[in-house]
Amino acid sequence: MIVRKPIPYGRQFISKEDKEAVLKVLDADFLTTGPLVAEFEVKFAAYVGAKYAVAVSNGTTALHLCALTLGVNKDSHIITSPITFAASANCIRYCGGKVSFIDIHPDTLLIDLNILETTLKENPPNTYDGVVSVDFAGYPVDLERLRHICDEHDLWIIEDSCHAPGGYFTDSSKVMQYCGNGAYANLAIFSFHPVKHIACGEGGMITTNDKSTYESLKRLRSHGITRDSNLLSENHGGWYYEMIELGYNYRLPDILCALGISQLGRAEENIKRRREIARRYDTCFKDLPIIVHPPLHQEIGHAYHLYVIEVDRRKSLYDYLRDANIFAQIHYIPVHLQPYYQSLDSDPVIAPVSEKYYDRCISLPMYPSLSDAEQDYVIHSVKKFYE
Ligand SMILES: *Cc1c(COP(=O)(O)O)cnc(C)c1O
Repeated sequence: MIVRKPIPYGRQFISKEDKEAVLKVLDADFLTTGPLVAEFEVKFAAYVGAKYAVAVSNGTTALHLCALTLGVNKDSHIITSPITFAASANCIRYCGGKVSFIDIHPDTLLIDLNILETTLKENPPNTYDGVVSVDFAGYPVDLERLRHICDEHDLWIIEDSCHAPGGYFTDSSKVMQYCGNGAYANLAIFSFHPVKHIACGEGGMITTNDKSTYESLKRLRSHGITRDSNLLSENHGGWYYEMIELGYNYRLPDILCALGISQLGRAEENIKRRREIARRYDTCFKDLPIIVHPPLHQEIGHAYHLYVIEVDRRKSLYDYLRDANIFAQIHYIPVHLQPYYQSLDSDPVIAPVSEKYYDRCISLPMYPSLSDAEQDYVIHSVKKFYE
């Protein structure tokens, strides 16, 4: 058999233009805190349809700043999904808050809004403060319904949209609501880790439609420092600034913004390619004992960060593919089962759907530069496993 390059579950593609954009910054005046930060922010905000965007060092720091600006502290109690990357919950722990996990729906693999609704009704008012919702695999949460539920209980929403830039759901007024557009969630966050849609190496973005939140995020990203004359208590001269709250250095350098801007230019065509790859998998797996996710849905613009299937004998399939140099991956080990979360003195988590899903899930290679021949090889290998 031919020796093949390993096929990963996800990977970046860096074009000649991407490289040129980065090289240009290296000769410019600003490697960081320069003009490309605002350019990336404006273009990204336009792409997702939000008013404001704040570029930060990665998706995790984006979540941390969102939690801070919403006032999460040791008395806060937040809800999220167990089927996500740990950072969706960790951001609450950074601020000392408590995290509760609510099970997923078996079809969408997103937080089950019926269970959420019941949980909120069964607990005394003001038990919870907010929800970190996750557009898992690129399937957008029905934020219209989530907002409705959250409004009844006075909860905020952080939309963890790391998997879904360019994804959308259609709301009851038949409007396509793009992930991170700020129409329903208070804040949304994105990651530019190389396996995500837009690769910066490391990088993140927060979007919101609220101006004062936007201003607060910009301060928190850079030490809590301001030069805004309206906020200064005095002014000693041109050099003067004040640190008015405890912030961080969570900035995204211009070098990486250049890469992000260049990559963003291809985001739309890349999503088309991801959807094409997904349709092909869907078609080829129809007659196999495989559950494909999610069931096809006209009203949903799936962003396909991941192509997830559910199978019996998952470990055997994983090992079989690995021997064939196909590096499938498992998304995710339920966060509440991680030793750290187990070690916390929390209420018991009831999430049988998530735990069953974890025993059966596997993510197949899904990225725009996956060639048809490579995809053929993946499909062929999966079929061979079942023969
Ligand atoms: C990647 C990811 C993050 C964290 O992003 P980083 O940029 O790696 O810090 C958070 N949440 C989800 C759902 C992710 O996939």
